[in-house]
Amino acid sequence: MLDLTELSFYGSEFDRAAHLRSKFNNTKIESIAKNLIIWRGKILIDQNNFSLVYLSSTHPLIKHSNVPPIFLGQVDKFNYFAHDISNWNPEDLPDNIKPSFIDQTSQSHPDLPFYQNFNDLRFIMTQLSDMEAGLASTAKALFSWHNNNTFCSKCGNKTVSTQSGWQRDCNKCNTSQYPRTDPVVIMLITQGNKILLGRSPQWPEKMYSCLAGFIEPGETMEAAVAREVKEETNIDISHVNYVISQPWAFPSSLMLGCMAKAITREITIDQNELEDAQWVSKDVLLKAYAGYDVGITPARPGTIAEFLIQNWVKGTLTHKK
Ligand SMILES: [Zn+2]
Repeated sequence: MLDLTELSFYGSEFDRAAHLRSKFNNTKIESIAKNLIIWRGKILIDQNNFSLVYLSSTHPLIKHSNVPPIFLGQVDKFNYFAHDISNWNPEDLPDNIKPSFIDQTSQSHPDLPFYQNFNDLRFIMTQLSDMEAGLASTAKALFSWHNNNTFCSKCGNKTVSTQSGWQRDCNKCNTSQYPRTDPVVIMLITQGNKILLGRSPQWPEKMYSCLAGFIEPGETMEAAVAREVKEETNIDISHVNYVISQPWAFPSSLMLGCMAKAITREITIDQNELEDAQWVSKDVLLKAYAGYDVGITPARPGTIAEFLIQNWVKGTLTHKK
């Protein structure tokens, strides 16, 4: 049995209550609503218990937001909204925050208690409950989509948020746009008691993970798995099976976890994509998990790659017959 509690953003099926999207329509938010806050893609959490912070609908921070709110859905009959306050410019924001794999800094707003601050969802995702991780991930993906679609792709006119943040309309050419999700295949490729792992040059030192890539237009999931593995490592595969999926709001992917069998062994990497790829045995992975330096650090907890690898090591993930 696969242990699904180890997969972040899984089991977070809050009620999206799509029939209510036209009701709120970016106007008034009821006073008892739960309002979660996002700043430049980072989530406002309470550091004491690693839960989302919900502000009252009359909080000044919400009033200062210059972006329409998003109606996320309902949990226990409460309506949940998300607000983007990216227009807040902290005076003391260090200018040394460089683009990195994961942003481990947090920021505090002067109108909020010091223990409530903004954090990278990737940094805190395993500490949030499934439901809250799902709400935060949905809000993050939607605001990212809004930020990148302020103009109509057909006529170039400005678009406006409608349907409580689930649609953008161009009033000039009457075109509507909808939030997109990009399918990505991520695959565990086996060869006996070894799996194929690779690393990108920008990853933390020694970190290895499953190969992955975007599905292209007109392509099946199975064909994308075979193509990506061939392109990146020159390995041929067979027996592609779908295992499980994970929404990945960085910025808007749906990871489709698959496994397949290798039918060739010799690796030739695509140096534009990978820094290294190798066959890694169960023994080496067990030593890595036990903390020994074997030159390989497994993927991060909560990710679908780590979920596939761990379950294969434990024997709970096997090829379908
Ligand atoms: Zn237009």
